[in-house]
This record gives sequence, structure tokens and C-alpha cells, in this order.
Amino acid sequence: MSPAPMYWNPYLETLPQPELEKLQLAKFRRMVKWAYERSPFYGELYRKAGLIPEDIKTMDDIRLVPKVDKALLKTAQEREPFPYGGLLCLPLEKVAEFRQTSGTTGKPIYQADSWQDWEWWSEAWCYILWAQGYRPSDRVFFPFGYNIFVAFWAGHYAAEKLGCEVVPGGVLDTRSRILKIQELKASALMGTPTYLLNMARLAKEEMGLDPAELGIKRITCAGEPGASIPATKNRLQKTWGAKVYDHAGATEIGAWSYECQDQSGGLHVNQAMFLVEIEDMITGEPITEPGQKGKMVITALDRLAQPCIRFDSNDIIQWAGKTCSCGRSFKLIQGGVLGRADDITKVKGVLLSPAAIEEVVRSFDELGDEYQVVVEKINDNDRITLKVELFPEALDQKDAILKNLADRLRLNTNLGYHLEAHEFGSLPRYELKARRFVDLR
Ligand SMILES: [Zn+2]
Repeated sequence: MSPAPMYWNPYLETLPQPELEKLQLAKFRRMVKWAYERSPFYGELYRKAGLIPEDIKTMDDIRLVPKVDKALLKTAQEREPFPYGGLLCLPLEKVAEFRQTSGTTGKPIYQADSWQDWEWWSEAWCYILWAQGYRPSDRVFFPFGYNIFVAFWAGHYAAEKLGCEVVPGGVLDTRSRILKIQELKASALMGTPTYLLNMARLAKEEMGLDPAELGIKRITCAGEPGASIPATKNRLQKTWGAKVYDHAGATEIGAWSYECQDQSGGLHVNQAMFLVEIEDMITGEPITEPGQKGKMVITALDRLAQPCIRFDSNDIIQWAGKTCSCGRSFKLIQGGVLGRADDITKVKGVLLSPAAIEEVVRSFDELGDEYQVVVEKINDNDRITLKVELFPEALDQKDAILKNLADRLRLNTNLGYHLEAHEFGSLPRYELKARRFVDLR
């Protein structure tokens, strides 16, 4: 069996693309061989496909390797050893970290990481934080309770690894978190866009504090695509008086992309640690040129205990048609993660993405941060109800605002909506992943 590979190389972010591809191919081959030899699941999958690791000689050969998805990984975990099953490539006693997926789209997947994998996680997050201007002088506040989900754990360790001072504010309630940020003069913050908006609202309305005066300089968002949706990003930046950066990651994959300080309208893919492919949603053909959206297929190039090789993530992304002014050679995806393939639904024959609705709603200053979309069938016709919250001071212009909103929505999504204005504060609030889109058909 091949020995455990190492990943470290400090010069990767600016390597020219051909060099990066060479590195990716070498790492990909090594990863497939590792999984083929050690994981009963991957070994069987590849043997059934008639594939041996030596078959992969060029970047094009990568497509010979069968893809995996959530359902397949979950089935593989029904075997021994419990709870990771046939995915495990190391003896159980080498597993140092347990995490699981949230299971919102089915049963959760249990994720094993060795200590080396955990260092790999924080290394991936170091790319994110450094690119977003985090330095050892930062005092980073985490308004977040850690648990079985990976959210912000790795961000925490990466901030420590960079030499930042880390303040874990998990067990505090929102009010105490705000007071702690003020007391300690924290300079950076991490959270979901939704929670950070709610936090700011509470500071303003119930505590008489202006979040923009708390001294937060940078915010890293995760968990929802909001920080890449321009209207949400603007709202967060204005409210907190800070630069707001997006990143994308997932339990089964790792932290694979990030926005840099140049905020060029996209996320850099960490090509040194991940191989991202984009496929046409219908034909499955590879998309290598900018301007066409597709589904992401991703490989974590150094993850050992429980590998992620050609994972069909269901994320919709597209390549950007430019390089970034920051000097990093890592490719950009335009506008971040654009949605999930299973979130994009057909309504009245038109493709509707929840992100498109969010962009419109949050561009209206008269509307609160929360909204809810319900799609249902009424007498054989699809009806989309959009519930928004109106600020009390905007109540007397309700009709005009709703009319404007309807016009903008029609323009941006080509659909008509049944609009409902609700009292501010009456729609559900979310701390973790928001559930704003309900399809009842
Ligand atoms: Zn950049």
C-alpha cells in the first residue's frame, strides 16, 4: 500500500495554471490509488467500472473515474466499521474527529477525519482567512456554538494557526455576544449572513447600539450563499461598517473556495487542495468555458480518512471569464455558489432560483431581512407566494412598495408573485441554515 501523502507547499496560490493542473493530476492519481487500495467502497466501485488507478494518465482521464453522491456515500456507511462503513481508508483508531452533515436532504453522512485531515481542514481555512486580510493582530469573535456540524470549527482553528486571537462566544446569547464584541474591541467576526443581520438588528433596536461603530473590520460568512448575493452583501457591509467576504465549503468536501480582499465578484477555487469540475446539468458534458452554469463535481485532493473523490455536490456554479486583480492564479467562480440543483425548480415552465428572489427583496430598504417563498398548486396552476416584512416606518407606503417589488421581481425572474406584507419580526428567524423556500407541490 502507498504511504499517507503530505500536502504542504507554500507557493501554490500563484502557480501558473499549467503547473497547477500538473499538481492536481498528480494528487488526483495518488488519491484514487489511496482509496482504491484502502476503502472497500471505492475499491469495489472502481473495480466494477473496470478502472485501475494506472488508467489515469491525463486530465481528460479523470472523467473515467465514477462519480459519487450523497445517497451512494450513505449506503456505503451501512457496512462495518460503524459508523463510517466502507468509506474509511484508515484504521478506526486513527480517526480523531467526528462530524456529520445536517441531513436536510436525507439521512446524514458521518464524516471521519484523522488528525492529519484536521490539519488539512485548518490549512484550507488559512487560505480563506489570509486572502480576506486576517492577520495575527486580529481579534476574531465567533458568535456561534460548535457542535456535531463542522461549521466554523475549522475557521476557529485556522484563525489560531494564523496567530489571531480567538474569542469563542458560543454559549452566550445574542445580546451578550454583542456586548462581548464591544467590550473586547473584536476586529473580525464569522457567521451566517442571516444570523449576522439578525444580530445587527437586535443591537440597533433593542440595545440602541450601532453595529457599524463596534469596530468590526472584516466578516467571513458561511452556510448560505448570501454573502455572494450583491444586495445581501451590501446590506451586511453597510450595517456592520465592515468588509464582508464569502467562502464555500461542506462537511463531505472541505473548505474549497473563498473570496479575496479584491472582491472581484467571485470566489477563488483552492486548486492546490481541490479539483473542481463543472458539468452540464442535462447532458453531463464538461463545462470548461466561462458563462455557462453547471453542476459541480469536486475532489478533495488530500483528504485521507474518508476521501471525497468526484463528488456530485449538487451546487450550481460557473467559471468567471477573468483572472483576479489580487495576483492569485487560482480560478474564480462567478458570483459564488449560485444555488443547489435541487433548489432550482420549474414554476410555470420557468426556472426559478431562490437566490434571484433574495437579490430583489434585500435591495429594498423598506423591507426587513427575512422573507419566505411558498410555491403551491392551486386549481392546477402554480402559485408563488412571497411573504416579506415591512418596517413600521414604511407602512403608509405599503401599496407602492409592493407594486414596485412585483415589477422588479417580474423583471428579474420572469414570474408573477402573490405578495404578502407581514408585520416586522413576524416571519421565522434562523441561526443556522435558513429555510426560506417551501415547495408544496
Ligand atoms: Zn483574488
